[in-house]
Amino acid sequence: MSPFRLLPLLDDLNTPFWTGGAEGALRFWRCDDCGYWLHPPSPRCPRCLSKKLTVTDASGDAVVHTFTVNHQAWIPGLDPPYVVAIVELPEQPGLRLTTSLVGIDPDDVAIGLPVRAVFEQYDDVWLPFFTPRDDEAEGADER
Ligand SMILES: [Zn+2]
Repeated sequence: MSPFRLLPLLDDLNTPFWTGGAEGALRFWRCDDCGYWLHPPSPRCPRCLSKKLTVTDASGDAVVHTFTVNHQAWIPGLDPPYVVAIVELPEQPGLRLTTSLVGIDPDDVAIGLPVRAVFEQYDDVWLPFFTPRDDEAEGADER
């Protein structure tokens, strides 16, 4: 098997997202004109087409939108089984990241679980993973 790179290649647009973890920040481009958070990054706001974008730190909070338990070693540093999840950020409906949950037993993961970003550095990128929020150990609100 030939080796291949699991990590993203950095360019001008995605560097803030993949290196914000160096400062503990979950970082996105945000539209100056309409406030839209861009993910994945784009040179124009997809909502209002403005090119006036500013790198902005998100809170780092999220909730588990959906998840699956993965039994194959796709992500460096994670031994299977681990949880691959889509988390949604409170900053904007539909602002979601595909990530992995760490510091939690796969059996304890639930949709709606409050989580926060933690970062692990590999080469020149800081991968954002998510771990349960300590302050909400009671679990997700039940709506
Ligand atoms: Zn906009």
